[in-house]
Amino acid sequence: MSQTVSERPGFLAQPLHLFIDGEFVPGAAEELTIIDPSSGETLAAAAAADASDIDRAVRAARRAFDEGPWPTMPANQRGKLLWRLADLIEANGDEIAMIESLNTGKPLPMARGFEVGGAAETFRYYAGWATKINGETRNVSLPGEWHTFTAREPIGVAGLIIPWNSPFVMAASKLAPALAAGCTVVLKPAELTPLTALRLAELVAEAGFPPGVVNIVPGLGNIAGQALADHPLVDKIAFTGSTAVGKRLLASAAGNLKRVTLELGGKSPVFIFKDADLDRAIDGAAMSIFGNTGQVCAAGSRLFVHSDVADEVIAGIAEKARTIPVGGGLEPGSVIGPLISERQRERVLGYIESGRSEGADLVAGGGVLSRSGFFIEPTILTDTRPDMTVVREEIFGTVLVTQTFDDDVTVDELAARANDTVYGLSSSVWTRDVTRALRMTRRIKAGNVRVNSAIGIDPNMPFGGFKQSGWGKENGREGLEAYTEVKAVAVNLND
Ligand code: NAP
Ligand code: MG
Repeated sequence: MSQTVSERPGFLAQPLHLFIDGEFVPGAAEELTIIDPSSGETLAAAAAADASDIDRAVRAARRAFDEGPWPTMPANQRGKLLWRLADLIEANGDEIAMIESLNTGKPLPMARGFEVGGAAETFRYYAGWATKINGETRNVSLPGEWHTFTAREPIGVAGLIIPWNSPFVMAASKLAPALAAGCTVVLKPAELTPLTALRLAELVAEAGFPPGVVNIVPGLGNIAGQALADHPLVDKIAFTGSTAVGKRLLASAAGNLKRVTLELGGKSPVFIFKDADLDRAIDGAAMSIFGNTGQVCAAGSRLFVHSDVADEVIAGIAEKARTIPVGGGLEPGSVIGPLISERQRERVLGYIESGRSEGADLVAGGGVLSRSGFFIEPTILTDTRPDMTVVREEIFGTVLVTQTFDDDVTVDELAARANDTVYGLSSSVWTRDVTRALRMTRRIKAGNVRVNSAIGIDPNMPFGGFKQSGWGKENGREGLEAYTEVKAVAVNLND
């Protein structure tokens, strides 16, 4: 059931422009047509940047950094502006959630809680960090008397490129630490989901950020994103998205040796041991792969379950797959929304087909919902082998692949099976045995380990992958430091 136009926020009906140097301006590229994935209908049109628009945005950010007030502004003033932005996000939270829900198909309560609430918390968290960016005095062994210290300085102009799966939180996770550190920014949202970023641009202006400090420029990845990554006046690229594009950005960054942080894909393992609290484990494993329609970089997409409890666990997750309410973002009670686009749905269905043709058993789902919008049934493939495409590649949809293990498998062997992937983003371990949980934690090659939980993201917890899941961390002190350079100062006090 799609919403009638009168129920939609007025924001969607107005011309949606690029935000450059404190002004809303048309884009030179062809407008983006924004689709509501819950219905397949057109939702809005948004301006798109070409390389010349990106150049203007980068130059505005450059001026605001080199000449403008941002890096030299007292840190508490930067913190206050970030806090004010968080307040404005909360004050406009229902509207932003509605826009996000329409644009992504996310259930409205999730858009309000996770996206809007999470973004506000992230801005507040980093507002506090603005005044706590310190260097250290160092104890050196140079001859005679010295005063030596380090300073942390903002890198400069940061280009921020984000995907469509969690648009508002992704924007906050990059903007907040960059701005707290004293960087100026150019943010390119995903072509499918620029709407809440543009609403945020209005709030940035209302909060009173100086012109040029924050620039928000929707556009196509291969045009606007590429121009940003290639631009010689950009000092750092922070990217979240596919591993393929992440690798391409390294080549772009080579031109002026931009600093690069990458949050890429995953194929995260979930282990359920036979002593686990099975009700909680079943619930957690189901939400870990079905939540946000599986479009989560840290989704628990590979289940390893002890053979003694495998039937019970898989039947339990299959029951959830069949009964979990799937529906449009604004439909009351909906827990799982549509995939983001018809293209993504084709991609996910292609993986399900490949799993079946390679010999996996389909125990739940596998098809589309007979309604408008880009919905698929939550799906489980059992009896998978490590060499299958569905086990090796990130699907980014509600598709769980399962394997079993026996008592004779050691923790080393089990961890080796889980680590047999190019990725290393997240993982979860369900057991009541603390020794086993910690042994697994030490052996899993992933940036995040969750014990008896499907969740674990917090502004103060570093998030980021090992191996081809990325470079660097987001959130926490580590996420802030990724927007700084360290300067070492040696002062000779000898006569
Ligand atoms: P993507 O192409 O990597 O998109 C991520 C961001 O990078 C978007 O803003 C995109 O713009 C931009 N981009 C694309 N090509 C670029 C280029 N040459 N230079 C600079 N920026 C560029 O991801 P996708 O195509 O949307 O999704 C494909 C697959 O990636 C998914 O199925 C999933 O497996 C994975 N993915 C992972 C994450 C994650 O959080 N780790 C998030 C999203 C997707 P456009 O929007 O115009 O493409
Ligand atoms: Mg793309």
